[in-house]
Amino acid sequence: MNGLYLHIPYCRKRCTYCDFHFSTTFESYRVQLQNALIQELEIRSHSHQIPLQTIYFGGGTPSILHRAELEQLFATIRKHYVVFDDCEITFEVNPEDINEQHLKLWKDVGINRLSIGLQTFSNENLSWMNRAHNVQQGLTGVALAQQMGFDNISIDLIYGLPDQSLADWSAALDQVFKLNIQHLSAYCLTIEPKTALQHLVRKKALQPANEQLQSDQFLTLLEYAKQAGFVHYEISNFAKPGFHSKHNSAYWRFEPYIGIGPSAHSFNGQARRWNVANNSAYIKGVGQNEDWYQTEILTANERRNEQILLGLRTIWGLDLSKFEANWTQKESAQIEEFARLNWLLINEKSMVLTEEGKLHADGIAAALFRVD
Ligand code: SF4
Repeated sequence: MNGLYLHIPYCRKRCTYCDFHFSTTFESYRVQLQNALIQELEIRSHSHQIPLQTIYFGGGTPSILHRAELEQLFATIRKHYVVFDDCEITFEVNPEDINEQHLKLWKDVGINRLSIGLQTFSNENLSWMNRAHNVQQGLTGVALAQQMGFDNISIDLIYGLPDQSLADWSAALDQVFKLNIQHLSAYCLTIEPKTALQHLVRKKALQPANEQLQSDQFLTLLEYAKQAGFVHYEISNFAKPGFHSKHNSAYWRFEPYIGIGPSAHSFNGQARRWNVANNSAYIKGVGQNEDWYQTEILTANERRNEQILLGLRTIWGLDLSKFEANWTQKESAQIEEFARLNWLLINEKSMVLTEEGKLHADGIAAALFRVD
């Protein structure tokens, strides 16, 4: 599997909970940033000759891109990279950008999978989240995308919201699975440092959900997804059979990918590389072909720990045919204990979390980490 990720660091508004890299004041340097993305695509193609099976536009807000910008990015990719005919091409979309003209453009350039950020079915929640859309725009947008022929649609939802009861969450799940979508990503709200949300919680304007309620909401999510015929293939991701995200699955399987754009990460199997998370430093760095990224070669233990952490999050589990287990006595005892608690299923080929185990995924992985 070989994937290409493009980070589009533009947003209209600053969502209160978000700590991704983006800017809301980008118009003055938009042309320069576009040129830098094109240049990085060209430069990186020299060291990347393997055909692309997935392309993923994330952000930020890719759906802010104009026709000319998007066409130029695709022309550059197709000129400098070999792209498989059945390449999965995902585009993250904010509901306020969905209209006939844009949908036609996205189809024209070859996008075949939309990831739409609905986040919640409550206008009140959308308001404190500072999202740029309302519930109706989201619903109309999904329906229009389907009418225009998009048949691989993922929706993002967030649970564990302040004042969100179990009944509210169940109602949201009811609604989302009626949308005839193929994929759902559902994330538990986390309060990231230095976000507006952290500020709101500190001054007690919002009361975060307690852990027990979040766990109950997660278990409710599993139940609804199962009833709707969705496979729970990664802790936060659910898909109709055959519709799992190929791009993201490659991350979780520890496969190589390249990331283009400010703050984008790349991985070649041995080393991680990350671009500077600053738009002007990125433009300057790429333009002058000076270092606009940092690289870190993973130690054997770091590779091992990441494989455990990522593998255990998926339905495929930790692939023991590709993983040198040689567990220590202490680790073996720990694994036996997790199996006894019915958190882990182990056979010769893999080690997989049970539904109960999914509630403890990070703790189980951490217990098996090795430190250099
Ligand atoms: S639109 Fe997405 S990337 Fe932009 S601020 Fe909101 S959550 Fe973050």
